[in-house]
Amino acid sequence: MYHSRMNSALSHASPTIFTVRFLGTGNAFAQGGKGYQAIHVTSPELTFLVDCGPTVQLIANQQGIDLSTLDAIFFTHVHGDHAFGLPFILLQMQFLGLRTRPLTIVVPTGHEEFPDQALKLAFPDVHRMGLDFPIEIRTLDPADGPVAFSNLTVQAFPMVHSVPVNGLKFDCGGVVLAISGDTTLCESIFDLSHAADLLILECSSKDHSPETPHISHEELLQLAPKLNVKRLVVVHTDGLFDPDPFYAPRDGEVLQLP
Ligand SMILES: [Zn+2]
Ligand SMILES: [Zn+2]
Repeated sequence: MYHSRMNSALSHASPTIFTVRFLGTGNAFAQGGKGYQAIHVTSPELTFLVDCGPTVQLIANQQGIDLSTLDAIFFTHVHGDHAFGLPFILLQMQFLGLRTRPLTIVVPTGHEEFPDQALKLAFPDVHRMGLDFPIEIRTLDPADGPVAFSNLTVQAFPMVHSVPVNGLKFDCGGVVLAISGDTTLCESIFDLSHAADLLILECSSKDHSPETPHISHEELLQLAPKLNVKRLVVVHTDGLFDPDPFYAPRDGEVLQLP
């Protein structure tokens, strides 16, 4: 009896496909003392970041995460609180990681020059000298449909914000991780999150304000029951409201999928 129960438990245990570590869950003002947005993901063949705000290196070091070993960095959009950690990561790869293998950087269409510009502004001397590893820039556009990256497929969905934003949906063998980036309430959230094992959704403030290109807690209370997701967590919060009944992970926290 014991054995059959144990076997049945084992047969239902799913291996971890995505390990998601939050390396920054705050907004552009770092309110609540939270880091700027960065999400570190390991999957069977690809370790990557989704966004890298300027505090990413600090929090990664606190968590014992080596950013030199990343395979790829995906950007939802190029706002400073999601993107300005990049030159520090490149610096670390060059001087501490002694990296020579290529790094893939995936940007929304139109931002192909951003990685080069960011390094040039932050560390002009390093930019002049050149990096010892190639950077492969790829663009991702909602019109592309699902695109293969190693053994993942990644699809961009058009969010609605003050600049173009790709909500990103990662699928590895049917395990699905969806990350909104910054957005207002929009129809694309339904496609982005459909059948996701985890949706990481922005929820910036308690009350809705029409001038703010973000989702409020008030709006999310209306939206959440209509979403087809196994799990939802909120990020990019201002730290000034109680996210209940939603869960807001802390900087450094880890979630595993499925
Ligand atoms: Zn933001
Ligand atoms: Zn933004």
